[in-house]
Amino acid sequence: MEQVVENYKYEGKELEIVTYPDPVLTTVAEEVKPEEFNDELKELCKNMLYTMYNAPGIGLAAPQIGLSKRIFVVDVDYDREETSEGSGEYTLSNFNPKVFINPKFKLKEGDITYQEGCLSLPGVYEDVKRYEHIVVEYQNTNGEVQEIEANELLSICIQHENDHLDGIVFIDRLSNLKKNFFKKKLIKQKKLQATT
Ligand SMILES: [Zn+2]
Repeated sequence: MEQVVENYKYEGKELEIVTYPDPVLTTVAEEVKPEEFNDELKELCKNMLYTMYNAPGIGLAAPQIGLSKRIFVVDVDYDREETSEGSGEYTLSNFNPKVFINPKFKLKEGDITYQEGCLSLPGVYEDVKRYEHIVVEYQNTNGEVQEIEANELLSICIQHENDHLDGIVFIDRLSNLKKNFFKKKLIKQKKLQATT
């Protein structure tokens, strides 16, 4: 297995998460080339995991940190508990990080609907219909080809993150009416943030 996820250590550098409508979020990301599987890539994946855990989120794709590359990280299993009530400090445990590079779906079947959110679309939570069961082929940080079968939340999360690599955000999967409503809301929200 790969070094980044095997005996995972919760450490790294926190990266800045870009928010909608940043153009990197609507750009199709590039494949990671064979010569790019190096220590720098491992460092990047480590930092992406750290950023995801701190956000906190269950998935983070490279375009969300402003990098248009076909890479994402997920963990749908970790625990996050407040150290003491109201302290605002959290203890994280039971990490189960996964790193996907150049992922490709081998199978998609069934239906599942789940309320999704996104670190790049703050404050938006909506039901999205996805495939229930998937098989994905991908490369690990050593460039080795791996395959994973996923159901339920892991399957949903992988599809959500893979969409980011194709320049798709989850509101693109809603009706036109809802999509336009949230687009306007997010643009307004961002403008307001920039001026305050
Ligand atoms: Zn997202």
